[in-house]
Amino acid sequence: MKAKDIAELLDEPACTHNKKSKSGCAKPKPGASAGGCAFDGAQIALLPIVDVAHIVHGPIACAGSSWDNRGTRSSGPTLYRIGMTTDLTEQDIVMGRGEKRLFHSIKQAIEDYNPPAVFIYNTCVPALVGDDIGAVCKAAEEKWGVPVVPVDAAGFYGTKNLGNRIAGESMVKYVIGSREPDPLPEHTKKLPYKIHDVNLVGEYNIAGEFWHVLPLLDELGIRVLCTLSGDARFREVQTMHRAEVNMMVCSKAMINVARKLNESYGTPWFEGSFYGITDTSKALRDFARVINDPDLTQRTEALIEREEARIRQELIPWKERLAGKRVLLYTGGVKSWSVISAMQDLGMVVVATGTSKSTEEDKERIRQLMGEDTKMIEGGSPKELLDIVKEYRADILIAGGRSMYTAIKARLPFLDINQEREFGYAGYQGMLELVRQLALTLESPVWEQAKRGSPWRSTGKSQLASVAAAG
Ligand code: SF4
Repeated sequence: MKAKDIAELLDEPACTHNKKSKSGCAKPKPGASAGGCAFDGAQIALLPIVDVAHIVHGPIACAGSSWDNRGTRSSGPTLYRIGMTTDLTEQDIVMGRGEKRLFHSIKQAIEDYNPPAVFIYNTCVPALVGDDIGAVCKAAEEKWGVPVVPVDAAGFYGTKNLGNRIAGESMVKYVIGSREPDPLPEHTKKLPYKIHDVNLVGEYNIAGEFWHVLPLLDELGIRVLCTLSGDARFREVQTMHRAEVNMMVCSKAMINVARKLNESYGTPWFEGSFYGITDTSKALRDFARVINDPDLTQRTEALIEREEARIRQELIPWKERLAGKRVLLYTGGVKSWSVISAMQDLGMVVVATGTSKSTEEDKERIRQLMGEDTKMIEGGSPKELLDIVKEYRADILIAGGRSMYTAIKARLPFLDINQEREFGYAGYQGMLELVRQLALTLESPVWEQAKRGSPWRSTGKSQLASVAAAG
């Protein structure tokens, strides 16, 4: 990828970071390498396209350390879970065999798995050596007649966030617009309402959570052409240009896709979240508002009323157990505000929230939800988090897996909210799962036992004393 193209991606006009500087996303700080490289970001963004053969062109460690690191689920094909890499060795690099190996790997993937497309992810080593992955992809596509898409996101190009954008850029450049959507099924023509086509961008179906939302959209007559990229198929991504509206589910990842579809096809987009009752209802209303169909608006309101009443009823026994509990939320981006609203729906108190990966817009939303005096955590070192827990008397830490040991060492209840989690929290139904997990975590007897101290310490003294007395 040319420096000019990278600079263009960093200068994303739809991203609020640009108001401050043309960083494109939060700049990495020393020690922040665990946040992932551009390759990692690109692969994370596209790996949930489940029927594609994803080949990592580089030494095995690149694929090994990032493969399958999200709990994204598929309703059908599982090809995405097979880690494929060209496994470049020192010999290959010295002998200049990288491109050949790549070509051969594409052949093997096509012959063994017959995928609808192959995605090639570039990494640092072949990018430095100068392998022309674009040319190899083109040659392979001509030879086997299967789309082979280059995703040129070598790690040293920048952060994980830039990688998300490069991934989106590859989809816009090589995939979207290359096929028309399937015609609507016959039975839908007899329906008393019109079917509307939409896309979701930045929805990854973590732990299958989007399946809590999909039935609601179905009921409203909203056909999801594609979710980029949770549980997506290659043929769905090809049709994204025909949606009437795009919903950006995560505020920063792939924002360039929504903007470019708007510029090229005039598709409007809005940003939203499916975490919490309030935000789920808002997202459904936003679909109806942007599509601007009075009948859809009416049916959406009726559905919201029914679903909210149902879920609020089911939440009553749980809410009693959780009301007033104090939460320290440490997560990034869109979740820094969307989860606050979910917690408030449950009557919990969010005492502070992490904002190191949040945009100015995210912070503004946090202020609206929590008031001006909100404690926003910019750093987030273990010590800082634990000091805040103490100062604000937090009962639970809700954060990503990386903070798990901080919480456990401090004997503090912890709930994983990030991509590695096992449970889906989206939609109305997801609230029930969230509340169940919160209650199970907070009420687990292990915390009381852990805080009690080790039994040999409390009994040890008396035992020693009795031994001494006996002696
Ligand atoms: S692409 Fe580069 S930075 Fe990323 S894992 Fe591979 S070698 Fe490391």
